[in-house]
Amino acid sequence: MSRIILKKGKEEAVKRRHPWVFSGAIAEKEENLRDGDIVQVYTHNGKFAGTGHYQDSSIAVRIFSFTDIEINSDFWKSRIEEAYNYRLSCGIAGKEHTNCFRLVFGESDNLPGLIIDWYNGHAVFQAHSIGMHRQRNDFKNALSEVFGSQLKTVYDKSKESLPANYASTITNEFVVGSDVETVVKENGNSFYVNWAEGQKTGFFLDQRENRRLLAEYCGGKKVLNAFSYTGGFSVYAGNAGAELVHSVDASKKAVELADRNAALNNISNHESFAEDVFDFLKNKHMNYDIVILDPPAFAKHREAKHKAVIGYRNLNALAMKKMKPGSILFTFSCTGVVEKNLFFNTITAAAIEAGRDIRILHYLNQPPDHPINPMHPESEYLKGLIVYVK
Ligand code: SAH
Repeated sequence: MSRIILKKGKEEAVKRRHPWVFSGAIAEKEENLRDGDIVQVYTHNGKFAGTGHYQDSSIAVRIFSFTDIEINSDFWKSRIEEAYNYRLSCGIAGKEHTNCFRLVFGESDNLPGLIIDWYNGHAVFQAHSIGMHRQRNDFKNALSEVFGSQLKTVYDKSKESLPANYASTITNEFVVGSDVETVVKENGNSFYVNWAEGQKTGFFLDQRENRRLLAEYCGGKKVLNAFSYTGGFSVYAGNAGAELVHSVDASKKAVELADRNAALNNISNHESFAEDVFDFLKNKHMNYDIVILDPPAFAKHREAKHKAVIGYRNLNALAMKKMKPGSILFTFSCTGVVEKNLFFNTITAAAIEAGRDIRILHYLNQPPDHPINPMHPESEYLKGLIVYVK
């Protein structure tokens, strides 16, 4: 196996079990390394530091083992077993009322660069590193062994998540089965999920707990779900007895699926709008008791952080200005580089700008199937607030 030697003084992060080795930390590597090769990382004075996937990019190695063990199909299988057992332990997997969850959350499951979402027997595989993509067959076999006849589909949806030069050589495709859509249950609510046509792997599993909390507020209320995608929050609101539910999303496909999801749950007081949320908030009379704002990430990189903060301030100020007295805002950010305190301060700034007196009811975050790895702070990305707007 190829070896990579770190520069003197550059072993601290790996010693603390941060799984990324940046290209600037490397003193020596072999000339002919290929993207996705498995390499062993050694410190300057010859101590083993970890084994990972090499890629010619700023993150040069993603470490998946900090112990020196053989990397073979049993190793990958044990990683999938660990990830599944963890989700069984924390009460997410193995439930009838919830049969979809994130099975692998990259660095937090010691599988850096890999996402696998589980939709009631259908696994959607998304590699964010070339190494994980080249390992695809090992994961297919591991999934078959761990889940047996429960496994109906493995769909590889890596084309959007890999570097362009490599992505141009692959397609999104079935590795097992051929189903494109299924119905899942989440806390007893039903949803169509379409991994072939949907955004990301098809469904935003990271909002499960926050949707459940929303349901507690919704009885008899008028609810606006902005950036609704396929209606995750809307279905919970409808099933919890909301008086009316409006879903707004710029994507026509998404709101069509939100309508189908409302129908699937026999929710009759749901209406959706394929519109820009900013226009909707500006132009519509806002007679809602509850407003949800769950926009897409506003920044992918540190350089765009300031712009993202301004985006959150403008969006939340716009909503708060128009919300009726005594209404409640569920507001989120999934932008990793905007840390939670910064986001919370931004919401305060938005309230000041809107001239509204607010109270914080709850701090929200990501659920246990998207666990935060404190050794890898980048794994913390979703945060939210429930805000009372006086
Ligand atoms: N809350 C959703 C996930 C939201 S993902 C859930 O629980 O499933 C973000 C959504 O915002 C995407 O569906 C995207 O189409 C939509 N979007 C992005 N920019 C938008 C805009 N300016 N106006 C309306 N929708 C937008």
